[in-house]
Amino acid sequence: MSTLEIHQIPTRKDNYVYLIRESAEGKVAVVDPSDAAPVLAKLDELGWALTHILNTHHHNDHTGGNLELKEKYGCVVVGPRADHDRIAGIDIDVGDGDTYSVGGARAQVFDTPGHTRGHISFWFPGSKALFCGDTLFALGCGRVFEGTFEQMWHSLGKYDGLPDDARVFCAHEYTQANAKFALTVEPGNAALAARSKAIDALREAGKPTVPSTLGEERETNPFLRTGAEPLKRAIGMADADPVAVFAEIRTRKDNF
Ligand code: ZN
Ligand code: FE
Repeated sequence: MSTLEIHQIPTRKDNYVYLIRESAEGKVAVVDPSDAAPVLAKLDELGWALTHILNTHHHNDHTGGNLELKEKYGCVVVGPRADHDRIAGIDIDVGDGDTYSVGGARAQVFDTPGHTRGHISFWFPGSKALFCGDTLFALGCGRVFEGTFEQMWHSLGKYDGLPDDARVFCAHEYTQANAKFALTVEPGNAALAARSKAIDALREAGKPTVPSTLGEERETNPFLRTGAEPLKRAIGMADADPVAVFAEIRTRKDNF
């Protein structure tokens, strides 16, 4: 099985764009290129030629570089079927249950709507790498712009079958602010308190907090803990169902 070499490119204020190269055929994909220039600079530095663009959703800070990169490299643009009309330059539509291979690296595709109606996630089991766009963040989740809370909760549940050591390559560095909020939800979570301290130290040193692992998120991310008894008790919703818990904490976050 082909493995991925993954480079993280910080762009704009807090975006992360990922450049990935698979080892079997040397194919190179960029995930969610906000802009062409920083991607071109990184390709130049690495001596790589772009063959694919993978988009998780239509927002400009994830697709803004599509057309310029496609023009230069003639690369294939892969994006959500449900948002075909809103992805610039899209060639291949994918959705829930599909697999798509970049050279020898096979990705499973999940529909993860809620942030946008056509949001998808790419899971590369051979490299244990999850590209979840703006669905799951380190200690947070995307704002629900185009879907319902229930839909977003279901979308996060699509990751339930993935292993604890799955690496979560989310698209924004929002972690420090997310940690502050998470501590208001579950102040008694010792793992969260420890993680929050580690995050402060990383940011102090100018380092990224992404990727995290799904295991860490399961222990500390309130949006993945909507069925956890300690969290439910902490917010006074011990008997509530997980969707109601999700709606409550997502609403609190929107007003935080
Ligand atoms: Zn977005
Ligand atoms: Fe975004």
